[in-house]
Amino acid sequence: ITFNEYDISEPIIKAIANLGYRKPTPVQQAVIPMVLKKKDLLVQSQTGSGKTASFGIPLCEKVIWEENKPQVLVLEPTRELAQQVQEDLINLGRYKRIKATAVFGKASYLKQKSELKQKSHMVVGTPGRVWDHIQKETLPVEKIDYLVIDEADEMLNMGFIEQVEAIIHALPSVKTTLLFSATMPSKIESLSETYLNQPQIVKI
Ligand code: AMP
Repeated sequence: ITFNEYDISEPIIKAIANLGYRKPTPVQQAVIPMVLKKKDLLVQSQTGSGKTASFGIPLCEKVIWEENKPQVLVLEPTRELAQQVQEDLINLGRYKRIKATAVFGKASYLKQKSELKQKSHMVVGTPGRVWDHIQKETLPVEKIDYLVIDEADEMLNMGFIEQVEAIIHALPSVKTTLLFSATMPSKIESLSETYLNQPQIVKI
C-alpha cells in the first residue's frame, strides 16, 4: 500500500513525499482510512510508530481551508510534545497553507491570544492552557469537528484528566474523537466508553 491509494489530495501527498515517507506505517494503515471516514478511534500504540502522521495526514486532508475558526483540537501532555506535533502538522499541511497554532503553559498567554485571533485551522495544546483559552473565549470551539486526545495515559499520570473532561464538555457534541494511548489503564477505558461514539479499536 502507498499513500496514493488513499483519498488524499495532491498538496498533502506532496508534503508526505517531501518528508520522505514512502509507505504508511502499520498504525497509519489502520488509522488514516478510519479518520477519512470520520470514525471515532481508540488507538493503542507507542511513540515512534508514526502515530502523529496517522492523524495529521487525514486531518490536514479534512480541514476546510476557507473556515476561519479552528476545526481540529489536539491535546498533548507536555509543551515539548505540543510544539513537536504543531511542527509536524505545519509540515504536513504546508502545501495546503494550513495554519496550526500551539498553546501551552509557562508561555505568554497574550501572544497565544493574538495568534489565535489570526486564522488557525488546528490548535495543539496542553490541557490547562487550552482550558484557559476556552474559558476566556480566546479559543473559539464552535467549529471544532475533530478532537485528538494524544498520550492519554500520560495526561492521566500528570493529573490532567479532569481538565481534559472539562474541555470535552465545552466542545460541540457532534464531532470525531481520536484517543491515543500507549497503555490502557481502566480510567482511559472508561474515558473512551464515556466520550467515544462506537469507536473502532486499533492495537499496534
Ligand atoms: P511518531 O510516532 O509520530 O513520533 O513518529 C516517529 C517518526 O517516524 C517521526 O520522525 C516521523 O517523521 C517518522 N515517520 C512517520 N511516518 C512515517 C512514514 N510513513 N515513513 C517513514 N517515517 C515516518
